[in-house]
Amino acid sequence: MADVDLSVLTGWIREFARVIGENAQYLTELDAAIGDADHGINMNRGMTAVLEALDSGDGGAASTDMSALCKQVGMTLVKSVGGASGPLYGTFFLRMAGALGAGESADAADFGKALRAGVEGVVQRGRAEAGDKTMFDALAPALDALDAALASGGGLATALADATVAAEKGRDATESMVARKGRASYLGQRSVGHVDPGATSAAMLIAAVASAFATGG
Ligand code: ADP
Ligand code: MG
Repeated sequence: MADVDLSVLTGWIREFARVIGENAQYLTELDAAIGDADHGINMNRGMTAVLEALDSGDGGAASTDMSALCKQVGMTLVKSVGGASGPLYGTFFLRMAGALGAGESADAADFGKALRAGVEGVVQRGRAEAGDKTMFDALAPALDALDAALASGGGLATALADATVAAEKGRDATESMVARKGRASYLGQRSVGHVDPGATSAAMLIAAVASAFATGG
């Protein structure tokens, strides 16, 4: 059964872009505390470029094929986002593209596997481990919750709702962590007491897919 189709996927990308735009200043403020005050600017630049590519009309394969759409999103993020987060989010979508076969839809299990492949790409690229105070600390618990919900027979809507709660808990847990990756790691102990900006945008990414799926794109 097809759970996720091109319109859900497009809805996800648009919703993520909207939420990033709305929270760009907040994400940048978080980065000001433990980084270089550009995470919101970086992500907003990237997602604005992604929307421009989506709306340019000549989407080509990206307008008919989920894998091609993810590839277009990933390439655009890699090209347009300066900073650590561009290649990491870019890799997330490029790995999703690789995992999703060509086609217009995916069932819950295949979509879950594609999200998992995306997170594995983030790890291969950034070498983050659990507890390093990065986006991985939101993404990893989200995927674990999603897999657990699907394994116990829940539908994708439930699984994505569980994943959202887990991502937000993971984001909140970064506050007490010592940063061990990226710019925040230069602060060592002084990074404690601040929520990680990338974990915050990653929780938004998961919430956006849940919302797009719930509303059918
Ligand atoms: P930069 O740090 O280059 O200014 P951003 O501010 O856009 O880039 O992104 C910072 C975020 O990137 C951090 O909050 C963290 O979540 C994430 N990040 C940094 N390095 C890594 C890494 N090696 N693995 C996973 N995530 C990382
Ligand atoms: Mg930064």
